[in-house]
Amino acid sequence: MTDGLGGHASAERLILLLVGAVGAGKGTQASLLSRELGLVHLASGNLFRAALAAGTPLGEAAREYMEAGALVPDEVTIAMFMEELARPAADAGAILDGFPRTVGQAKALDDTLASAGERIRRVLYIEVPTDVLVRRVAGRWICPQCGTTYHEDTDPPDIPGRCDRDGTALRQRDDDRPEVVRARLDKQVPPMLAVVEHYERAGIVDRLDGTQSIEAVTNVILASMGARAAR
Ligand code: ADP
Ligand code: ADP
Repeated sequence: MTDGLGGHASAERLILLLVGAVGAGKGTQASLLSRELGLVHLASGNLFRAALAAGTPLGEAAREYMEAGALVPDEVTIAMFMEELARPAADAGAILDGFPRTVGQAKALDDTLASAGERIRRVLYIEVPTDVLVRRVAGRWICPQCGTTYHEDTDPPDIPGRCDRDGTALRQRDDDRPEVVRARLDKQVPPMLAVVEHYERAGIVDRLDGTQSIEAVTNVILASMGARAAR
């Protein structure tokens, strides 16, 4: 499935979209792929939470929407991503996670990237059935410091309750309870499928079976991009 991403397109940054419902493994794969490929991981929810905590103008602009669990307006969200993409950390490229969430956002992102001579190169769509998602999310633990994600059964930290990277006490998200996850899925899935369809029209979607092990999913992604063999 190589598509010529290596070689001739080297001047163009590798901008990837990671798409999947809550619990599909986006955060997990993004952190592995960003290390493997030297890309920056830009997760909308994390960026907004950091801006809110730091009290930046962006955080203030996003506050009322986040507190209501509503989408932050597109202009604010796109401006935030373009600002992140302009940083040196994104020189080699980026993995976008949690954005775009609607076809409107996807079209606006495509246009903004095009005016900068760039484009989304691949869309990695991680498919996982609802019941598996709900079970997974219930066992998810996250490092509030560096964002690394663990699972109490499938991907536990070396020392229980502590991040392998920085030793910070891990936390569970309040909204990762089963009934809340089902409600989040009901709301998230239809617009997410519309985003996948939008990029399918451009022929750049890789559908991935997200019920495989974490390592197997990473390897399929790397192979599908024609990257050097996974280690
Ligand atoms: P959730 O899965 O509950 O939406 P996230 O951590 O992905 O959690 O996002 C947290 C909040 O950040 C959202 O409730 C929303 O206010 C904002 N947000 C995240 N992604 C987007 C986006 N693509 N567009 C607009 N707002 C977003
Ligand atoms: P997302 O960012 O898509 O919401 P996460 O990467 O946070 O998903 O993964 C949700 C939970 O499922 C985490 O606890 C993670 O450790 C676990 N997980 C991720 N991928 C897999 C997989 N392929 N098999 C089993 N568990 C997984």
